[in-house]
Amino acid sequence: MSASLAASETPKAAAHTTGPSPAVMATYARQDLVFERGEGTWLVTAEGERYLDFASGIAVNVLGHAHPSLIAALTEQAHKLWHTSNLYRVAGQERLAERLVAATFADRVFFCNSGAEACEAAIKAARRYQYVTGHPERWRIITFEGAFHGRTLATIAAGGNPRYLEGFGPPVEGFDQVPFAELAATEAAIGPETAAIFIEPVQGEGGINVAPPEFMRDLRALCDKHGLLLMLDEVQCGMGRTGKLFAHEWAGITPDLMAVAKGIGGGFPLGALLATEEAAKGLVAGTHGSTFGGNPLAMAVGNAVLDAVLEPGFLDQVRQRTLRLKQALAAVQDQLPDHVEEVRGEGLLTGLKLKVPVPAVIKAAIGEKLLVAGASGNVVRMLPPLNITDEEIADAAERLARALETVPVQT
Ligand SMILES: *Cc1c(COP(=O)(O)O)cnc(C)c1O
Repeated sequence: MSASLAASETPKAAAHTTGPSPAVMATYARQDLVFERGEGTWLVTAEGERYLDFASGIAVNVLGHAHPSLIAALTEQAHKLWHTSNLYRVAGQERLAERLVAATFADRVFFCNSGAEACEAAIKAARRYQYVTGHPERWRIITFEGAFHGRTLATIAAGGNPRYLEGFGPPVEGFDQVPFAELAATEAAIGPETAAIFIEPVQGEGGINVAPPEFMRDLRALCDKHGLLLMLDEVQCGMGRTGKLFAHEWAGITPDLMAVAKGIGGGFPLGALLATEEAAKGLVAGTHGSTFGGNPLAMAVGNAVLDAVLEPGFLDQVRQRTLRLKQALAAVQDQLPDHVEEVRGEGLLTGLKLKVPVPAVIKAAIGEKLLVAGASGNVVRMLPPLNITDEEIADAAERLARALETVPVQT
């Protein structure tokens, strides 16, 4: 017997037989469900049970599961080249960057692997921009209550959620938090050290809170007036989810920096920082990097996702499906007014603020073979794939109503 086999058969490894393995660190409160495969909007267990997926891996699987063109792109690339690092040019990066530049406000793109990294890159870009343009004293960033920017040390400080900061030592300095979408408080927080304002146009984890378009326009004006960069976190609300390629387009403004991830990889880990030429000034050779960022596999999938989302009519269809979903959920609210307080959101980034506990509703929905995600403020999120059908929307609303009915109303 080889030494490695012997090591894997120690009693420690053998002890676990059923339920979640303790070998996986317990950082998540997971549902006790294991899926074996996916087909479009459906996830299937090893026993063949089919679940309607309105969580989409948290707004990641924009084209659903096992989309043929993504499978083709990934397998074709897998036969050619997986990884070279950024010591060399990567053709897929140049192609995806040029296409993102053509489709958005941006002139420059930096690729990474996740949303937190994209936000981290945005923070570094903003600080470096002020540094290289003669304002090294400007390094603080205004953020908003309810924000979520990821789980690295800097992004938990930016998000400001006390639950995520507790026990990790002094928070990274340089973030000033104000109430969400409040202009006077935002302006009052601007000081001589302020470098930028950082906001999710639609807060996802924070409970599906939509920043009004007027507020986004006011922020743009405020940034221009004070020499600040406007930084957007479109990790969750971007990539077609609101019915525009990026959510800020609804307000008719453009940012200086934008972090994206989740949907842009359609399920392959991929993040990016998009920047104007001006805002990208600080990130010159040697200032930032990532070994895996923009690797050929990720780029092949990223290009294939973009093909689908930029296909003429795709975003129109997202907007049509949004109306269907909103109508279906409004009907659920009418039917169960003691359970549902409000339907909110933009596009297929939808939330229901509930009057009954969200964890109980998520469990009851699993009982109806419907997958949904929670969010702060007792909100349940419905984030289906963007290519969902009308029938699946109607089906999900029925399942949700049945699930809600099983959860007792508190009196
Ligand atoms: C999910 C999310 C992040 C963090 O992304 P990870 O890939 O989990 O690091 C950052 N910002 C927003 C708005 C998100 O929804």
